[in-house]
Amino acid sequence: MSYDVIVIGAGPGGYVAAIRAAQLGGKVLLVEKDRLGGVCLNRGCIPTKTLLKSADKWRELQHCGEFGLKAGEIGFDFTAVAARRDAVVAQLRGGVEQLVKSNDIEIKYGTAQLRGGSRVTIQEQDGSCEVEGKAIILATGSSPVALPVPGGDLPGVINSDHLLAMNHVPASMLVIGAGAVGIEFAAIYQAFGCDVTVVEMMPGILPNLDSDIVKRAGLALRKQGLKMLTNTKVTGIAAADGLLNVTVDNGKGTQQIVVENVLMAAGRRANTTGLGLEDAGVAVERSGIPVNDRLETNVPRIYAIGDVTGRMMWAHAASAAGVVAAENAMGGHSQIDFRAVAGGIFTTPEIAMVGLTEQEAGPDIKVGRFNFAANGKAVSLGETDGLVKIIADAATDKVVGVHIMGPHASDLIMEGALAIQHGLTASQLAHTIHPHPTLCETVGEAAHGVNGDIIHQVKMKPRR
Ligand code: FAD
Repeated sequence: MSYDVIVIGAGPGGYVAAIRAAQLGGKVLLVEKDRLGGVCLNRGCIPTKTLLKSADKWRELQHCGEFGLKAGEIGFDFTAVAARRDAVVAQLRGGVEQLVKSNDIEIKYGTAQLRGGSRVTIQEQDGSCEVEGKAIILATGSSPVALPVPGGDLPGVINSDHLLAMNHVPASMLVIGAGAVGIEFAAIYQAFGCDVTVVEMMPGILPNLDSDIVKRAGLALRKQGLKMLTNTKVTGIAAADGLLNVTVDNGKGTQQIVVENVLMAAGRRANTTGLGLEDAGVAVERSGIPVNDRLETNVPRIYAIGDVTGRMMWAHAASAAGVVAAENAMGGHSQIDFRAVAGGIFTTPEIAMVGLTEQEAGPDIKVGRFNFAANGKAVSLGETDGLVKIIADAATDKVVGVHIMGPHASDLIMEGALAIQHGLTASQLAHTIHPHPTLCETVGEAAHGVNGDIIHQVKMKPRR
């Protein structure tokens, strides 16, 4: 069979690319070796955020007295929490299937391999077949990295895929890696009563985030009971009476931590092996498949998008790349623009960011900050922890970075993304009237703060 576009991998990059190519009139084949929706829907964004919602509701229930509410006996049943997680994933997967089918996209379940030129073989459960595509889009995603730690292959040492398949909360867990994935899992399981220790070899948690946010997030997470060891390496794991004895080293000495599970959350690697890249002549680097702004690989008519490129490992970045690659595969001239890709870390409170951090932006900047504690809506919600920080260019006043920790940070950040994408100034953002009472007033106030004219901030009088 011959197609206009063959898409390999049905994650948020691949299925979106398939839909866009079909919208443009292409005959499209989507190949998936596992389940529609990829990591994001089945083992990433959606199951974690569903668990987080249960964790948040459980926290709220425990503090309902603060809102004048009384509850009888309270508790949780993690089997039911996990069942809801799975039901949400299944519902959304059904939605993706409907979307794909309604666009007349053919789906084949099997493992695809490039054969050179326009040829692809697909190993299905009941045999293999060969197909041809005028264009091929590689969207095979990424997998968790297993660290080469002695004892790293012991039972009980798990990755994010394993943890999301578990229907119970371990009594204790050591998380290796304090990046977004590690911190999200740590916070969720801590809320359900797991005794969590996060070990990070870098000097701070959440490397690459703005330092103000890292400081505030560290305080908030420690207040929730998370133990975090930075500048510390895991040097070995040993079995100990059904548990795991983990040795950690902070350069000054070693320490033993006994836990039920060790979660490896120290990064992900592009899925490039077994894909036939060598046969097709597609160049590959350690971080993934290199592409240009049109998402073209070094081989004409073969495109790569999403995590497999090793760039911007976010679901929405993969989807945006999918649209661009599909348009080019169908003869268009589209380019990806990654200038203003916002990211979210779904702890409580949430963290979100777009653009440059203060460390990256250099000295020629103006900074505005506004605390959620001074926002009426946040006070009424009882969620006052956090701040909005806006960084603007000192000369032009253009917004170059927005960093938020606080309630609904992942929604509020879009104001920053719009500002950066369209070159708005802090003053333009500030003078866009923000409705009251809303959380987005914090963004307006922080934007005022860039030029020193915050309204809702107590003025400090100089001491006499
Ligand atoms: P994937 O989603 O990895 O999909 C690739 C697909 O290709 C898979 O289904 C795979 O089975 C298939 N495949 C691979 N090889 C072949 C082959 N040879 N033949 C056929 N099929 C193949 N991002 C966010 O934006 N927000 C979040 O909140 C968020 N939370 C996350 C939480 C966790 C725990 C994890 C692990 C990730 C999270 N991410 C989040 C990242 C997000 O999941 C990824 O960036 C996104 O899934 C990448 O999409 P993709 O389409 O490139 O690849």
